[in-house]
Amino acid sequence: MSIIVCSYGEIHLKGSNRGFFLRTLIQNIRQALPQGVKAEVRDTRVLVTNFTDAKPIVACLKKVFGLTHIRVCESVNYQSPDDILAYLAKVKVTGTFKVVVNRADKNFPVKSPIFAPQCGDVILKNNPDAKVDVQSPDTIVQVEIRNNGVAFVSTGCERGLGGLPVGVSGRAICLISGGIDSPVAAFLAMKRGLAVDFVHFSTPPFTSELALQKVVSLCEQVNTFGNNGNLYVVPFTEIGSQIQKKCHDQYTITLMRRFMIALAEKIGVAHHADCIFTGENLAQVASQTIQGITSNNFVAQQLPILRPLICFDKDEIIHIAKQIGTYQISILPYEDCCTVFVPTHPTIKPNLKTVLEEEKKLNFDTLVDNCYNTVICKRLQNTSAELSNKPQK
Ligand code: ATP
Ligand code: MG
Repeated sequence: MSIIVCSYGEIHLKGSNRGFFLRTLIQNIRQALPQGVKAEVRDTRVLVTNFTDAKPIVACLKKVFGLTHIRVCESVNYQSPDDILAYLAKVKVTGTFKVVVNRADKNFPVKSPIFAPQCGDVILKNNPDAKVDVQSPDTIVQVEIRNNGVAFVSTGCERGLGGLPVGVSGRAICLISGGIDSPVAAFLAMKRGLAVDFVHFSTPPFTSELALQKVVSLCEQVNTFGNNGNLYVVPFTEIGSQIQKKCHDQYTITLMRRFMIALAEKIGVAHHADCIFTGENLAQVASQTIQGITSNNFVAQQLPILRPLICFDKDEIIHIAKQIGTYQISILPYEDCCTVFVPTHPTIKPNLKTVLEEEKKLNFDTLVDNCYNTVICKRLQNTSAELSNKPQK
């Protein structure tokens, strides 16, 4: 019988919280899997059973945060070590290999360092072209001896996403533009166990329905990694226009960002967020100098602002964006609300005193409150469930 055996890395370290982390992990795994497929935790492993084709199941598991390794195994019943050796005699191996034995059942009569070469001998005898290479083998044959007379044997291993199960660290509200960075920031928030809601500022009619649809697609793509977040769309035209009309244009971007943070915090607090995430990156553009970034900090009163990309290079961000499938969506050429209002010479090092003076020209709280009353919650499609529930050919 085939079985998929998953390891979960960092959760081992969680002491008295381990139960909560494991329950969340198994719940997230079950949500990612097609109906009927079973998942349970047994002796520090997640065992996935009741499927016909392993490939689509592995693809689902590779999108669950918290799993480090995923192995498709054969479950071999044994009464003596010879039964396992008899199974290994049928295993096909080409190129170089090594055998790794783990012995969870300490009553198993042969110790791992002795059993591994015995397994290797059987494989060599039945695969005349195969060779042992313990340094960098093409194939690792893993023999995991479990309790209750069962061994799991695999000849391949896929890496999981790592990180922590989505939800164990609380909730984040992530400011998402249509660009490359912010979906990656949301993904990294999820990697450390945060469930993410999204907030997007749009400026109709200057930004189009297609630009908004692009943001919806980005959020849906990020959601495929086990997140079930909502997208809050904030009509930002009035605030942008007021800033443009009344304030010095050098400060337009800085002031817009401060309004964005204030609104993100208000939405976040109303929806149980513990923190705000942005895709800001030090010195990437004129508005993201240390002074530009920190001038936003003082707006948020209740939630911390976290910026996971702050020290990444752009090519590192693009690399992740490509891996998680957001890059191709992000590069679609639709306008962002900031580009609509962007001045020709934004201030590079905004001085907080001047920022506050400029802001006094506006009725900050009333603008925020009025804008907040127009926020729309867009339901996102749960594409991961749809994909994984499709019958496999
Ligand atoms: P990105 O790929 O995230 O757009 P960028 O380099 O274009 O990155 P900026 O446009 O300067 O960055 O924005 C910095 C951050 O501010 C974004 O990562 C995002 O978190 C937030 N942000 C910018 N514009 C918007 C918007 N229209 N709606 C929501 N958040 C936004
Ligand atoms: Mg942007």
